[in-house]
Amino acid sequence: MARVHPEIYFFGGGAAEGRAAMRDLLGGKGAGLAEMASLKLPVPPGFTISTKVCTYFYDHGKKYPKGLAEGVAKSIARVERALGRKFGDSKNPLLVSVRSGARVSMPGMMDTVLNLGLTDESVKGLEEVSGNGRFAWDSYRRFCQMYGDVVLKLKPEDKNDRDPFEEVIERKKASRGVREDTELSADDLRELVSEFRDLIRNRTGHDVPQDPHEQLWAAIGAVFDSWNNDRAIAYRKFNNIPGDWGTAVTVQSMVFGNLGSDCATGVAFTRNPANGEKGIYGEFLPNAQGEDVVAGIRTPLQISLKAGRAWAERSGVSEEERAARYPTLEENFPAVHKELLKIAQRLEHHFRDMQDMEFTIERGRLFMLQTRAGKRTAEAAVRAAVEMTEERLIDRRAALMRVEPVQLEQLLHPRLDPNVAKQVIARGLPASPGAVYGEVVFSADEAVVVHQAGRPVILVRHETSPEDIHGMQVAEGILTARGGMTSHAAVVARGMGKCCVAGCSALEIDYAAGAMKVGDRVIHCGEYITLDGAAGEVIAGRVPTVQPEMSDFFRKFMKWADQERRLGVRANADTPTDARVAREYGAEGIGLCRTEHMFFAPGRIEAVREMIMAENLEQRTRALEKIVPMQREDFVAILREMEGKPVTIRLLDPPLHEFLPKDDDEIRKLADSSGLDPERLRQIRNSMEEFNPMLGLRGARLGISHPEIYRAQARAILEAVSELRNEGVKAIPEIMLPLIGERKEFDLLAADIREVAREVASRNGGKLPYLIGTMIEVPRACIEAGPIAAAADFFSFGTNDLTQMTYGLSRDDSSRFLDDYLTRGIYKKDPFQELDADGVGDLMRIGIERGRKAKKNLKIGICGEHGGDPASVKLCHRLGLDYVSCSPYRLPVARLAAAQAAIEGRKSKRGEFKDV
Ligand code: ADP
Ligand code: MG
Ligand code: MG
Repeated sequence: MARVHPEIYFFGGGAAEGRAAMRDLLGGKGAGLAEMASLKLPVPPGFTISTKVCTYFYDHGKKYPKGLAEGVAKSIARVERALGRKFGDSKNPLLVSVRSGARVSMPGMMDTVLNLGLTDESVKGLEEVSGNGRFAWDSYRRFCQMYGDVVLKLKPEDKNDRDPFEEVIERKKASRGVREDTELSADDLRELVSEFRDLIRNRTGHDVPQDPHEQLWAAIGAVFDSWNNDRAIAYRKFNNIPGDWGTAVTVQSMVFGNLGSDCATGVAFTRNPANGEKGIYGEFLPNAQGEDVVAGIRTPLQISLKAGRAWAERSGVSEEERAARYPTLEENFPAVHKELLKIAQRLEHHFRDMQDMEFTIERGRLFMLQTRAGKRTAEAAVRAAVEMTEERLIDRRAALMRVEPVQLEQLLHPRLDPNVAKQVIARGLPASPGAVYGEVVFSADEAVVVHQAGRPVILVRHETSPEDIHGMQVAEGILTARGGMTSHAAVVARGMGKCCVAGCSALEIDYAAGAMKVGDRVIHCGEYITLDGAAGEVIAGRVPTVQPEMSDFFRKFMKWADQERRLGVRANADTPTDARVAREYGAEGIGLCRTEHMFFAPGRIEAVREMIMAENLEQRTRALEKIVPMQREDFVAILREMEGKPVTIRLLDPPLHEFLPKDDDEIRKLADSSGLDPERLRQIRNSMEEFNPMLGLRGARLGISHPEIYRAQARAILEAVSELRNEGVKAIPEIMLPLIGERKEFDLLAADIREVAREVASRNGGKLPYLIGTMIEVPRACIEAGPIAAAADFFSFGTNDLTQMTYGLSRDDSSRFLDDYLTRGIYKKDPFQELDADGVGDLMRIGIERGRKAKKNLKIGICGEHGGDPASVKLCHRLGLDYVSCSPYRLPVARLAAAQAAIEGRKSKRGEFKDV
């Protein structure tokens, strides 16, 4: 059949005008439905209006492109013909859903209207064809409610305000003396419909239209509008989704999971989204419609028997009780279960990725309503990628591209210390792993307050909804009383990489009292609890945590990444403990060992102050005699830990200012330990104060103005090397000078170090191995890279300072205005988080080109915070750096990002990817 309109894509009857690859146009949902229809899977027919129409809608004062109205009318007629039903018919009416769907999934952020097409006329028809008056009127009242909420915006903005429709239902139930919605009769529901319509008329001055086409256009407009509701905007900001992508609208014929006990609705994954285990995993609710599963209204049942049994065991439910009260889909709908397994496998093979599917069973018949790549935890992502490779679904490179590098940090999250006794007070579903503790709060706003006060917080809710996002973002963990593994809380928490225990039905939460009850134990707002998201446990008080073991899947995955990458990966580590962690997580050396932390250590800072405030050589030498042995011990420990691997040690960098005694108390202490006069010390301190310390006496300038400081550090390093050599331990120090902007600075400081090295070597029997290089962190150093490189053994980009100085913007003060720059789109990203490719990146390019021109094999790395940011790591790869260096816990992130950069580079050579 011919297309009815360029922006409308029909699907149904074993064919579709769209394809999976058209996500940008059809949204993920529309593209998935089209693909499933083409695969001849049971998909209710419908059509998708493309995202281009959304863009047009916003660009043209909320009007639609030419011919769209005719196109929609023709498409509805086509659905009518496919099903033999008629829109608004009083005999056999067609009902549709109007669904939102963007390129990437934005769970629950936009709106959907179900059961559209019900009117006073067509409800009679629905009664007739279903032979079920209760169902027909319940569908009508659900439609009126959704129309009121979504189209006429009666949904309360504030979560604590009651939904006006729910109040009407409560009153109705009270007057009938019943507790559950399901106990209301067809007549009650008929009354509810008219009461709902009165309410709508009173509040908005509009009636629910009695023309289904009018309903349809109002709903289409509402879905496009929902692209720009506050929730959706907030979600896009948090997830870096551009505002101009727009949503598609899918209009699809309804199937009903709420016609009786042979009906159901559910959600299924092809692998467990929490741990990646292969096999269908999901939940369903018998005799229910649409969003009931996600909304967490009832705790749903399991799909597979195996998962059902595991659930029962965790919840302390006996096998008899489980089989009687909580039967699985496998037991209750065996034929459908089999078909679902087949479809799930087919879809996974087709898309070559783990799928997350929505389905509905109408009178024993299975219908597929959605499929998409499933959101998963890091653990699941790694395991699924490895196993899919072993199943030959994908190759290794595809597997490496499947995992978001930042996700890997989750895997290094602490777990509960197994050696500490814990008191489990309740169990729920292990919705998202991690072990965290914090103060209990019962609202998102409170969570923000406690977080801002610097205390860890656990957000506890009956269930969460999109209004809670800001609280979920700041919470350490999330605990809900209702909802399953696919509830809002579970899905969002997994997306955020946060610990979550969901559906903990033993909790009785009282929002008004600010407390929850578990058995006879009451926990108030502000008390501490601990969550174990991998076990689904709620534990009293604070349980200490330990570092996790790495799984075999993870090791294998990282091995593949290491085989693929060209960039070296080092760690920033200042202590032997950091160095040990770094080795374990795959560091090939230390890219930045800062020495100032050693100076600040208790018991040392006085000696350091004595040194910098010394007024003559004698005082200074005395102070140095105290410092050198301490530093030597530090270097021995770190170099020993990193035996055989390079360790880049940066000589003292921070402004002297930072080391000065701050108050009289500190001055007195210093006077005591040094024997110097307190009044004189005060004068010296005042004379050393600076207006702009970050641009003042720091970095290389310290070495120039106080040569003894760097000489002392060099001595400590080289003595450590020689001491280790005598023990047979191979140390590879790379001495790094900070803040160099001029060749002459480098020459003078390097000469000092070489002189010290000669002294140490002559005293300790022979030459010592060491390099002298420089940080490149002043813009001038990038420009002057040629002459500097001619003298230096290596470069390491200090991109924190380089960014700061390139933008002329203080990192420590930027929080006040950076947000404005980001919201107004002046900067796309915080340049301190992601390397600015255009400005800072270009300076780096100049530095690299000029440096390597002067010295062909100049070793170049990066040691700013950017070394652990995936996009920045990829930029470093493209710039041709030799290595990146980042914090130890970011190492797997950097290793994977480096592997992905290599893979992307290869593809771009073949023209599949655009390179910047
Ligand atoms: P979301 O993006 O929030 O998941 P959906 O458009 O998928 O919104 O719809 C919400 C719920 O309504 C889902 O559970 C879906 O399966 C159900 N639903 C949507 N369209 C239909 C339909 N045509 N028939 C039956 N159920 C539907
Ligand atoms: Mg959905
Ligand atoms: Mg710096």
